[in-house]
Amino acid sequence: MEKFRHSHSLGQNFLTDGNLLSAIVSDAEVGADDTVVEVGAGMGALTLPLVKSGARVFAFEIDNRLEEYLRPLEKEYPNLTVVMGDFMKADISGLFAGEYKAVANLPYYITTPVLFRLLDDVRCKSVTVMVQKEVAERIAATPGGKDYGVLSVSAQLSGRAQVVRSVGRQMFTPPPNVDSAVVKIDKNREIEGKAQIMEVVRAAFGMRRKTLMNCLSSAGYDKIKVTNALQTLGLCPDVRGERLSPNEFSALAKLLK
Ligand code: SAM
Repeated sequence: MEKFRHSHSLGQNFLTDGNLLSAIVSDAEVGADDTVVEVGAGMGALTLPLVKSGARVFAFEIDNRLEEYLRPLEKEYPNLTVVMGDFMKADISGLFAGEYKAVANLPYYITTPVLFRLLDDVRCKSVTVMVQKEVAERIAATPGGKDYGVLSVSAQLSGRAQVVRSVGRQMFTPPPNVDSAVVKIDKNREIEGKAQIMEVVRAAFGMRRKTLMNCLSSAGYDKIKVTNALQTLGLCPDVRGERLSPNEFSALAKLLK
């Protein structure tokens, strides 16, 4: 590892502690019946305990310099497929069929788009990922607080979202400037029309200081329809978006359809 020059812009903060890596795999509850998608395999530190669990693992890595560390693992473990390239452009359905669990130590610069991709993919059944502590807090935030926003609602609409462990910066090589946490999102709830719900949620958080009514009408929603919907849900006409629970957003979107 000494010779490798970590790329800051690719978020290359690697893990080496065997206990922590095993703990992440057990947080994810991964076993031989599972298919796992790992985003950002690096040198394979997390990939190894994942394949050792017996799961079918698809490990994505964008940096071609890391291929020489990952291909030998692939040779050794027939249940591992290494995919070199940008995860955001990868065609997951072209690779395998069926459900999967996502497990990763995510690169910081691309955390939010990766999370939204996984949360929006119905085939993804759970997401267990290392993220910046501040992102973990946003994912698990409850209505009303400053951290509660689009990411919280998207994660919690799907099921339970929780911070499962805190991880100090010294656990990474090289250490980043922030602390991290492992979050787990169990996508165990069926949601109909998530895209439409998220449209309402995005509009609701579009202008944080404005009322929900103002945000929605600026985004093109009919004022009378919004007034009636808020009344039906027993919400004040001047409520702010950040007060609504994921279930209330879901009900609101249905009424605004
Ligand atoms: N899993 C390894 C570990 O825990 O030691 C590495 C984790 S490191 C935080 C993130 C990895 O994601 C880096 O190896 C980086 O090159 C890779 N990466 C960054 N952007 C990516 C992308 N768009 N698609 C796939 N991998 C990416």
